[in-house]
Amino acid sequence: MECQRFQKLIRNWYFQVQSEAMAPARMVLFMEKHLAECPVCLADTRVREEVQRITTFVLPEVKIRKASEDEKEDKVTKDRSEEDESEEEEEEEEEEEEEEDEI
Ligand SMILES: [Zn+2]
Repeated sequence: MECQRFQKLIRNWYFQVQSEAMAPARMVLFMEKHLAECPVCLADTRVREEVQRITTFVLPEVKIRKASEDEKEDKVTKDRSEEDESEEEEEEEEEEEEEEDEI
């Protein structure tokens, strides 16, 4: 995988999946979305294999196809990653709405 950004995102998403802050199906969606949009990943022939591997890892095999069809892209809201310095493409400004659980 050549895309540094994607590596970081995956790590971040995976962490969220582990801590049950994100559904695995959503992580898969995000990965696919990134693959479809990122020039680096589009040019990388191996990255899809890796995503495939990660997908089967986070999701039980049976669900893979269904998950990506069910949840569509209106779920992108929570994709808040730590890489604020470096993002210039792929901004989705509609986040921030779910931050009301302070005391
Ligand atoms: Zn990428």
